[in-house]
Amino acid sequence: MSPDFLIIGGGISGLLTARELANAGASITIIDKSALSRESSWAGGGILSPLYPWRYDDAVTALFLWSQKQFTDLAAQLVESTAIDPEILSSGLLIADLPKDGSSEAWLNRFNFSHKKIATEQIRAIAPSLSESYSELLWLPSIKQARNPRLLQALRAELTLKGVRFIEHEPISEIVIKDHRVTAIKGKHSLYSASQYIVCGGAWSSRLWPDKKQLKVEPVKGQMILFKAKPGLLNQMILDSGRYLIPRKDGRILVGSTIEYSGFDKSITDEALKSLKQSAYACLPDLKDYPIEKQWAGLRPGTEKGIPYIGKHPGIENLSANCGHFRNGFVIGPASARLLADILLDRAPIMSHEPYSIGS
Ligand SMILES: Cc1cc2nc3c(=O)[nH]c(=O)nc-3n(C[C@H](O)[C@H](O)[C@H](O)COP(=O)(O)OP(=O)(O)OC[C@H]3O[C@@H](n4cnc5c(N)ncnc54)[C@H](O)[C@@H]3O)c2cc1C
Repeated sequence: MSPDFLIIGGGISGLLTARELANAGASITIIDKSALSRESSWAGGGILSPLYPWRYDDAVTALFLWSQKQFTDLAAQLVESTAIDPEILSSGLLIADLPKDGSSEAWLNRFNFSHKKIATEQIRAIAPSLSESYSELLWLPSIKQARNPRLLQALRAELTLKGVRFIEHEPISEIVIKDHRVTAIKGKHSLYSASQYIVCGGAWSSRLWPDKKQLKVEPVKGQMILFKAKPGLLNQMILDSGRYLIPRKDGRILVGSTIEYSGFDKSITDEALKSLKQSAYACLPDLKDYPIEKQWAGLRPGTEKGIPYIGKHPGIENLSANCGHFRNGFVIGPASARLLADILLDRAPIMSHEPYSIGS
């Protein structure tokens, strides 16, 4: 029997959308071109705040502030139902390079966001291994992080328990439309049909969408490296000059990331390795004593202002999208999924859908 919803793409956007719809009793199949959740969602850092949040449009901030309240409950529910801990940790975020025009202070006060400026002595007390060059940092204690692969694994396990079906290694090549309705989607192995279809294709979403001009998402490569450090070397996330360090529970430290406009190329480079290493050592000199375990790249679903597309196709009644989250797919994932489910299930929406509308 055909499901109520067919979701194309099993990254964080597809999984969270499926979760919202499954919680409302819908039947769902998720189809992915490769193994589930191995693209941007797997590659990302999992900082649960936009970097320099004051730089973003209010449309992104609204999704962030709503989502921020959900992560603790989400983690608890996932641990209870699957026994997989997504390691959502309240590590807090230190920021080194603040704007001189007061825009950060204005944003923090406007949203009543918990923060504190800390100077040399307090920095040493909180993070003794950080470079001695830091004399003032902004401290955002409420910012959390997630361990992406664990969160994705837990979501998959939970969705399986809820009866969601997964079809992997099945690239969708066409959305078949007749009389302003999708009748099927064409995969490599089969045709699939459902009552409704949702594009959660990350950086590939525009390729799938019937009208490319309506939904503009482009791949933006980001490279990361992972140090095998020891627990306690660094306990807070830190952001400096666009680069960040994320300490995991087991002591490993992620360092990211580059921003590269190079199409769908996902190769890693020595140049990025050198530059990420330099940023890491400048921030936390002791990292020189630890090996680099891994380097990888992922393709962010880039949009002009980082505002995602959430909603229905303006002319095709059973086609919708939740994509284009750029650097913030985890940060704003819960609100994006909930908003789309509200729209599709005709519920009162958690916020206005207009800033995210497709073809507006
Ligand atoms: C280096 C890096 C660091 C990041 N750090 C953070 C961070 O700290 N915090 C944060 O919130 N965000 C971060 N991001 C961004 C975040 O990872 C993305 O916004 C998010 O993963 C997007 O999720 P998605 O599900 O929309 O896309 P994806 O995870 O890319 O999932 C899309 C899925 O669609 C599938 N698909 C595509 N085309 C087809 C097709 N034709 N047929 C079938 N399936 C298809 C793909 O295989 C893929 O599994 C980072 C990204 C990168 C690369």
